[in-house]
Amino acid sequence: MQQLTEISATAVATTVHRLRATFATGRTKPVAWRRGQLRALRALLTDHADELQNALQADLGKSALEAFTTEIGFTVNEIDHALAHLTSWLRPRRTRVPVALAPARARIVREPLGTVLIISPWNYPVQLALAPLVGALAAGNCAVVKPSELAPATSAVLARLLPLHLDQEAVAVVEGGIPETTVLLEQRFDHIFYTGNGSVGRIVMNAAARHLTPVTLELGGKSPVVVEPGTDLATAARRIVWGKFMNAGQTCVAPDYVLAVGETAATLETHLAAAVRALYGDNPADSPDYGRIVNYRHFDRLLGYLKDGRTVIGGAHDRSSCYIAPTVLADVDPGSRVMKEEIFGPVLPIVAVPDLDTAISFITERDKPLALYAFTASAASKRRLVTQTSSGALSFGVPNAHLTVPGLPFGGVGASGFGRYHGEYSIDTFSHTKAVLDKPLFPDTLRPAYPPFTALKERLLRRLL
Ligand code: NAD
Repeated sequence: MQQLTEISATAVATTVHRLRATFATGRTKPVAWRRGQLRALRALLTDHADELQNALQADLGKSALEAFTTEIGFTVNEIDHALAHLTSWLRPRRTRVPVALAPARARIVREPLGTVLIISPWNYPVQLALAPLVGALAAGNCAVVKPSELAPATSAVLARLLPLHLDQEAVAVVEGGIPETTVLLEQRFDHIFYTGNGSVGRIVMNAAARHLTPVTLELGGKSPVVVEPGTDLATAARRIVWGKFMNAGQTCVAPDYVLAVGETAATLETHLAAAVRALYGDNPADSPDYGRIVNYRHFDRLLGYLKDGRTVIGGAHDRSSCYIAPTVLADVDPGSRVMKEEIFGPVLPIVAVPDLDTAISFITERDKPLALYAFTASAASKRRLVTQTSSGALSFGVPNAHLTVPGLPFGGVGASGFGRYHGEYSIDTFSHTKAVLDKPLFPDTLRPAYPPFTALKERLLRRLL
């Protein structure tokens, strides 16, 4: 492992201390400061959209439109939603006090946590660094953002632009890989928000334990798609292909594999192949809308999956450009590697299952997924999937789209992570929900609760409580 020089390690520690000192002054608490930062972040995204799109193109071959919808526009929407609702989200909420405690007033106050660390991955390097930052700023925190070193162009743009637009005393970017993140994790933070794989999630949690720092872990896993007979298979296939091959399959909530129920497998295969051709043409390598694999390591890993089933469509690849065609595999053995590991690339295995019972057992016997998708015309099947499976999210009729609904929480469960964000859930994540009780000293209604206890006091208290 590359070592970090002592000077840069000191620089990281100094940065975190500077932010902690800023928080201590109270500068980030006023709603006006928070709104100002959110507006500045919005301006960064809109004024520098071209620069960000170019960086995303360089890192991931992302098309300009996909970069806009899934990264820049997405984050702008998150900001607009926060700006529209911030006042009501931050309003203290009253709650009733029990008769025994009256007169008194109780309220719930959301207070910022302090200085938080946001560690983000390479696959949506703008959205996954900045959407958590929206929550951190809206909640009134200072933040260190650590972009992924595997999306170096985007990391460089963020490192340059964030200090230009945001309050430098409250927000800092630390670029780098494992050595820099390791030094960051040694610092004391008030929350760590990590998005990435589960192995590093464990490292983050271990480091956080040292300071008793709360963490949010936004992890991944294998998100299944259940397809039942009786649904419109052509539309289902189009939507599955859209969700799966967006960003060349490198999307945490992308459909990982299909569970084709009953007779659907054969027909679905044909529709999936047709949908790939319709969306990306006969040679997806020529499509300006199709992305590339982030690096050789992931390219080689993904190539290993291609032998795990019969190729329905795709399979073409070119290492020099990190291109792997959108690939659908059929007759896949559930015990094969492609069905054991998170794919996180453009390979879609289809596993045929006889009925919904088998599909549900297949899902529940494995790690809880980040998302579960189903295409079914049956209300009873929908009910069963809601009540008999557990996943970060469950979506019928469309993959990936749930995270664009601002009122829905986004996060995993079990192996797919814990904690949630987006919209008001981000405020919850980056705030302490403080209980405030205010009881006047006069009249002193607590007298009956004070010892020495008498029979009269006991009768009174037993009736009141
Ligand atoms: P990555 O390699 O970019 O790593 C994520 C971050 O962890 C980076 O900032 C990196 O510098 C840091 N890191 C890596 N190794 C480290 C170490 N040993 N110690 C400390 N920090 C370290 O991204 P990745 O993990 O390959 O991302 C892909 C995974 O993330 C997939 O499993 C995917 O499903 C998941 N993911 C989840 C979400 C979500 O919102 N739940 C979103 C995107 C990706």
